[in-house]
Amino acid sequence: MNLELHRSIYPGFFMNINTERLLSYLNELSQKGKISGLQGIYRLAFSEGDLAGRAFFKEKINAAGLSEFTDGCGNIHAFYNPDKLDLPEVIIGSHIDSVPAAGHLDGSLGVMAGLECLISLKEQGLKPERPIRLIAFSDEEGRFGGTLGSMAIAGDLTPEMIESSKDLNGISLKQAMQAAGLNAKDCLQCRIHPDKIHCFLELHIEQGPVLDQLKIPIGIVEGIAGIMKWNVRFIGVSNHAGTTPMNLRQDAFLALSEFSLNIKKILDQSGSERSVATIGKVQLSPGTANTIPETASFSLDFRDTDPEILSALQKEFRKELSRIARENRIMFEFDVLSSIEPAKCDPDVISVIEETVKERNLNYKKMMSGAVHDTQVMAHITRTGMIFVPSCGGRSHSTAEWTHPEDLEAGANVLLHAILKLSGVKHD
Ligand SMILES: [Zn+2]
Repeated sequence: MNLELHRSIYPGFFMNINTERLLSYLNELSQKGKISGLQGIYRLAFSEGDLAGRAFFKEKINAAGLSEFTDGCGNIHAFYNPDKLDLPEVIIGSHIDSVPAAGHLDGSLGVMAGLECLISLKEQGLKPERPIRLIAFSDEEGRFGGTLGSMAIAGDLTPEMIESSKDLNGISLKQAMQAAGLNAKDCLQCRIHPDKIHCFLELHIEQGPVLDQLKIPIGIVEGIAGIMKWNVRFIGVSNHAGTTPMNLRQDAFLALSEFSLNIKKILDQSGSERSVATIGKVQLSPGTANTIPETASFSLDFRDTDPEILSALQKEFRKELSRIARENRIMFEFDVLSSIEPAKCDPDVISVIEETVKERNLNYKKMMSGAVHDTQVMAHITRTGMIFVPSCGGRSHSTAEWTHPEDLEAGANVLLHAILKLSGVKHD
């Protein structure tokens, strides 16, 4: 498929999004999912707050005279297709569900900016050669595992996943969706056939410090890191902290601390410059001050954009766990909690975004995404591109989340013009 990269001035070349309207949408949406006495936004998938956010989004789509529908997974679709074309669609989207105590931009920016783009196109009377669809995906943040809505659209869900998904409080996906007026089984009916999609685009805040530190307004994502999540346990012998000589101990925590110190060495030797690894949660048992720990349980999260490097890291971490266990005369075991494949963005879509950014005279950096996004899942069925704007101080999933309005405007304009090019917009 030819993306028709080489038009210089196209219809709508000089247009801009309505920044005031975008900021007011973001502000209004940030009021949905507030809990009195608590800081931040609570729009966990299918919760009351999420439903309020959804109602707001649908109201704005309808007020703009655009059509919408909600699929069986709760994904909300909005359309701009004035000529009722039956061609592969340019799809844009992100999510409006949130983590607990969230900021106002993660996910919301991509959806509100997408809506602003559709409204701007409609106001200007511009007609695309390909239909444009905006999707607010369900449960990106992972109340029930993460990227549920995009997985439904990519056809990646199984009946077992629907049946077994539960949140941290033991509420099942089926119960939560039922309370929201949806039937979880319908998640299996939401697939969009790859032949129906021209490409997918997502605008998102970086959620990291790179663009902010470099004072660069636009990031063009080349690939999204794959993630391995393990639960690891070193199992030694608990004993008296006073009477057991140091050389006779089988201390699970000492094994963990040795492992943690060697993580950097393993990344240096077997990883890439993009590899990261984190132990974010540790639990010692029995967990008393005067007892040698029998068990050290900990999480291990490691990421890279290259599948081969990820599998090399898996091997090296396993080898190191085994060496340390042997030398400390203890045991180790681990469970793989999740394993998400890396995804590459499409070179042609990247070129369209790059050309757009250059035409707007914006400074940009090509980069990787270390966080999971719906784009990663959409890459299973179509060509994808992703635009980042800076996160001040790299802060996200927090009320400190902030992006300067001029950067939000720049990102939304890059999204608009990438849509114009990719959908082949013409004048009425
Ligand atoms: Zn997000």
